[in-house]
Parts: sequence; C-alpha cells; structure tokens
Amino acid sequence: MMPVQDLAHRSQTAIWHPCTQMAHLHRVPPLPIARGEGPWLVDTDGRRYFDANSSWWVNLFGHGDAGITGAIHRQLDTLAHVMLAGCTHEPAVRLGELLAARTGGQLGHTFFASDGASAIEIALKMSFHAWANQGQAQRREFVCLRHGYHGETIGALAVTDVQLFRDAYAPLLMQAHIVASPDSRDGAASEAEALHALRELLAARGEHIAAVVVEPLVQCAAGMRMHSPAYLRAVRELTREAGVHLIADEIAVGCGRTGRFFAWEHVLAATPGADGPFWPDFLTLSKGITAGTLPLSLVLTTDAVYNAFWSDDVRRGFLHSHSYSGNALACAAAVAVLERFADGALLGELAQQAQHLRTAFAPLADDDRVEHLRQRGTILAFDVKAELAGADFALRYHLAARTHGLLIRPIGGTVYLMPPYVVDAPTAAWLARAVGATLDEVSHAA
Ligand SMILES: *Cc1c(COP(=O)(O)O)cnc(C)c1O
Repeated sequence: MMPVQDLAHRSQTAIWHPCTQMAHLHRVPPLPIARGEGPWLVDTDGRRYFDANSSWWVNLFGHGDAGITGAIHRQLDTLAHVMLAGCTHEPAVRLGELLAARTGGQLGHTFFASDGASAIEIALKMSFHAWANQGQAQRREFVCLRHGYHGETIGALAVTDVQLFRDAYAPLLMQAHIVASPDSRDGAASEAEALHALRELLAARGEHIAAVVVEPLVQCAAGMRMHSPAYLRAVRELTREAGVHLIADEIAVGCGRTGRFFAWEHVLAATPGADGPFWPDFLTLSKGITAGTLPLSLVLTTDAVYNAFWSDDVRRGFLHSHSYSGNALACAAAVAVLERFADGALLGELAQQAQHLRTAFAPLADDDRVEHLRQRGTILAFDVKAELAGADFALRYHLAARTHGLLIRPIGGTVYLMPPYVVDAPTAAWLARAVGATLDEVSHAA
C-alpha cells in the first residue's frame, strides 16, 4: 500500500485542489483516504476519521451504503448513460415522478444537470426566459440575500455574497441586488428588517426583477446562519404580490437535512391550508440527492413556468443542455434515495437523531468559550468567541480534530456538524466528546 506521505505529496503536484491556496497545501497536506465505511473515512495508514460534515454535505447514509450502491450496480449492468435529448429512460422519469409527487404536483417538471452551480444557472436562465416568453423581457434582474451562497460559476457567483469567492471575479459578474438576510443570532428583529429591505426593493425595482433566490432556513456556507419558516412565508407573499419568481435553493438543506424532505415543507407546515400557492416557483437540489455517490443536480418548477416555453417556435423552448444531463446511474442512485424516504419512517428517525445531537451538545450552551449554539434538523452549529477564535482558528481546529478521529472543517469561528444520517445516542455522545476535546486543545494552545 502507498504510504500516507506519498499520496499526499503526489496529490500536491498532480491535483489542483478546490477551495485551496495550493501554496499553502504543504502546511495542511490532504488526508489520503483509502476507503469509506459508514460514517468513517479510513486513510492509507488505516486511521479512521468520522465524516462530521458528510463530505461537503453530500453523504446522507454513510459511505458504502448497500441500498444505494446496489441500485447503482444494477443500473450499471443495464444502462450507464444515454443522452436525454431524443431519448429517455426509466430512472430519470421515475425520479421526476417521485419528486413531483413529493410536491403534491406543484413542482411537476424536473430539469437535470450535474452540479449545484449549474442548477442555479438553469433556474436563473429559465426564470428570465419564461418572463421574456411572456412579453416581460425587462425582467432581467436578480435578487439574492446578504451572505448567500449559490455556487461559483459566473452566473451563480453573481448571486453569491461571499467576498472571498467573489472579489477576484467581480468585474465579470452581472449586477445582482443583494438584500439584508435574517440571522437567528440577531433575534426576530433581523427578520423584520430583512423583509422591510426586500419590500422596499420590490417596490422600487419589482417590474425589472425576474427572481429572488434564497437558501431556505439555513445559509450554510455563510456559517450556518438560520432563520424561521415565517420569514420564508413572508418572502413568498412579497414575491407573489410583486409578480416575481422565487427560487428555493435546497442544494444543501434538501433531502431530509432539516427534518423534512424539502426544507420548504416547514413553510407549508406553518401555513395550514395554503399549500399550492406557497411553494416556490423553482426548487434546486443536488448534494444529498445521490447520497454522495454520483454528481447530479436538478431544478423543479411549476406548470406556469413550463407552459411559458410551450410553443411551435424552437427558440421559445429551453435549449439549455449538459452532456450528462439525467445520467442514468446518478438518477438510479437518486431514486434509491427517494425510496428511502417513501414511508416516512426515515423522517421519524431523523427527528430522533436531531434529538440525540441536541441532548449530547446541550452542555456547550453553558461553556463560556462558546456562543450561539443552534440547530435545525441534523445541522448543529456554535460559534467560538472572537478572543479564542483568532485568524487561523478554522485551520487549527481542523488539524486538532484529526488527531481525535474527527474530520470537520469550521467556517471561520463557526464549528458545525452535518453528519450522515447514522447518529444514535452513543454516536452523538462520542461526537460531543471529540468536539469538546478538540476545543480544549485549541483553547489551551491559544
Ligand atoms: C454547494 C451549494 C451550491 C453549489 O453546488 P456545487 O455542486 O458545489 O456547484 C449551491 N447552493 C448551495 C446552497 C450550496 O450549498
């Protein structure tokens, strides 16, 4: 077997790693991972690390889940891929049907791509084009939220408000409106302020705006900034009154992460009897949709948007395409994920898992190194106080955690867990101990 240093070293030459200043890589050599087993990643020396962030939020059921890999194996024996223009296949159709059913038919049309950023590009283009087809081509402005993250291709980056990712490319980006976003850490007033800002913008520019894009319930990449379903319901009401599309980006929070299959279902649950009109116009999924096995993303939309493209004129169609659009292997994996959610038992388990996390981490609320302990479903986060955090806190914490068998990447001073859906009470207790021990180590060093 290749020694650990060798693979890490070869990687620094052969691979240009994502989200990484390559000149710094030697300080934090990449972990050479040989295999995954449930929530554990095993390196080439046999050391085990708990995948506390689900490999960038994609891995729902742990590594090597037999149900998902079995579905992929069966599909591989039949058909790996065929182009989705002019052809179709069972896994793609079945996936579209299952997703439509999950929205009660409100979002009954599925468009496929392979990564989250492309799904956002599609939603933006579709929104603009739908308006143009309806004689409203002046609607070509987009609204996103402060601290929002929607991916890093040029269009998605234009509606992303993370300076570090944006600044270098600012001259290339279309101008989007960035409005205040709520944050539970600032109390309920921040929701009222954010709604006020959106209301003002829609009053001033509403007729030029195609869509507003939001990450429902948790702005994950910004450091797990959370808000309430009531805020989202008000955003839906405001956008509907202004005749503006609403894009719900559930790339991170979809697929059960918040305790319901779609995060948006929390909005509906808070709005009895007002189901249909309260769905967004577009909903994007990726990350967990194949449980971390294969790249797939998709955009769900309404009859109204779909019908805006229905015409004898080819140019009024949505001609966007990707080579791997609707890949059969990825769709088979996603169907297996959807089937896992079919009878509601998994959502019941997820509620229990969230409770195990809540119980195990509750003592942190009294830890004076920590503030803003918060949770939504199986996303748990807290902030380390500024005096402790320091500039390279995330890096120091990440490295110390490795020695405790924990793979975790804080965002600035925010430590968070988004574990695979395998958290029983002992696992939650182990996680809390490992997170605490790492915190002790990093605070003593500070
Ligand atoms: C990760 C993410 C994206 C981008 O997905 P990629 O597959 O990384 O392009 C978009 N939106 C949200 C909310 C995300 O978390």
